[in-house]
Amino acid sequence: MSKRQRRKGERVGIRWRLFACLALFTLLILLTLWLFQVRLLSTFYEGEKFSELEQSAEELKKYVTEENAKDLVFDYAKQKGLCILVITVKDGVGRMLVNADVTPECMIHHMSAETVEGLYASAKKNGGVFDKRFEFDATDAPEEGRFPGFPQRGSSVNAIHVQVLEDDGLEYVMLLDCELMPVDATVRTLELQFVWIAGVLLVLAFLLALLLSHIVAKPLVQITQKAEKLSAGEFEADFSQGGAYREVQELADTLSFAAKEIGAAGRLQRELIANISHDLRTPLTMIKGYSEMMRDIPGENSAENIQAVIDETTRLSDLVKDLLDLSKLQSGTEKPDFAVFDLAQLLRDALDRYNTLIKHKGYCIESVIPEGEVPVRADRTMILQVIYNLVGNAVNYTGESKRVLVTQTLKQGVVRLAVADDGEGIPPEQIAQIWDRYYRVDKEHRCAVMGSGLGLSIVKGVMEAHNASYGVESAVGAGSVFWFELPLATEE
Ligand code: ADP
Repeated sequence: MSKRQRRKGERVGIRWRLFACLALFTLLILLTLWLFQVRLLSTFYEGEKFSELEQSAEELKKYVTEENAKDLVFDYAKQKGLCILVITVKDGVGRMLVNADVTPECMIHHMSAETVEGLYASAKKNGGVFDKRFEFDATDAPEEGRFPGFPQRGSSVNAIHVQVLEDDGLEYVMLLDCELMPVDATVRTLELQFVWIAGVLLVLAFLLALLLSHIVAKPLVQITQKAEKLSAGEFEADFSQGGAYREVQELADTLSFAAKEIGAAGRLQRELIANISHDLRTPLTMIKGYSEMMRDIPGENSAENIQAVIDETTRLSDLVKDLLDLSKLQSGTEKPDFAVFDLAQLLRDALDRYNTLIKHKGYCIESVIPEGEVPVRADRTMILQVIYNLVGNAVNYTGESKRVLVTQTLKQGVVRLAVADDGEGIPPEQIAQIWDRYYRVDKEHRCAVMGSGLGLSIVKGVMEAHNASYGVESAVGAGSVFWFELPLATEE
């Protein structure tokens, strides 16, 4: 089993995760509904009934003090379907004011005087308002004299609201009564329904999860298939048709970009290998040719021919060294070894050495180094290599004058080194590429000193490792000026 296939099995797919989320969501909703509609149904229902009774008592207040209170309360009781009892109390003596007995399920009209007194006392203690839930079961032996009209009707539960109103030294005790319907049967029906609803919703959640996962996962599956092609080396894989979602499209774009980059890197690598092998083969062929010639042909063992072998060997070792330097710089394994040194002195020494080397070919390097001492903090060896590469190129590409001018200027804590030649210059469209390794503007080297094609890439690598700026100003026919800048080392 491959690593990728194994991974497939280890993880939960979108479909099951979606289903789990949807099922959990459904169960949460059902739980909430069950809590409110089943568990708390009777609590809500009774609370509602008591608050209705309280509202009615509030309305009754304006009737009980009227002249024709009896008629008004009676009409109200009939209209609302409530049993109402109003008693006036003066100096501890109670007198019936209204006795509206309009429903058969009423309890207040079947209570003993003590029970009514008890309710009155509770209301007085409770600030004038009192609620009581009365339960009556005919199977229980009712207390003698209490609820005399009830035994034949079985069990009943009633809500009774008591309010005491004081007006003009007189107390009006209002008792309101309504039956509380049993909700057990409703609750049982609802519970049964809940089981069905839960089942149906879970099936729906699964179907929805299937549909959604199909919609969401499809573009991802397509991208995975294309990415598999990419991993198999097909860098032309096209991810552009990512899908309807921004996130997936972004993933597709990133993969397209990565595919292009990997493809380009692969091409570059192949070109590089071809170039390097070509450049290595040329001096090797020369060395072999000269050596064989000296071995086989008498008299060819001249100092001149030996020098040619030495020159080619030097070229070869330079090329290998450049390649090594560049790969170290680019891979980041070689970090600059920062130290403070005098750039002006380094430049003078380097140019002196270079002049000695090329003077016999008629070349001349002029320099303008006004400042005596220019301390910079950088990697001395790397900067020396940059100077050699730039001066070497200038000597290679300079014009008929065979002159190169190196200037050093100081400005605002920065030293700028510019190497100018009066050669053919570089076409503007090629300026950006000359810093790439192995890029060469198609022309002959004027000087016998051959470049490796890596010189400017090394300059670029060193400058980037130093975080320094560098560049070139060039115009076709007017020569080029390559420059770089380093900050002056401040005294610590
Ligand atoms: P090379 O070994 O070919 O000189 P470099 O990396 O040093 O490699 O330079 C890359 C290319 O940039 C050169 O092939 C050349 O075309 C161009 N170039 C570099 N220096 C100069 C210059 N002073 N004048 C004109 N062209 C230059």
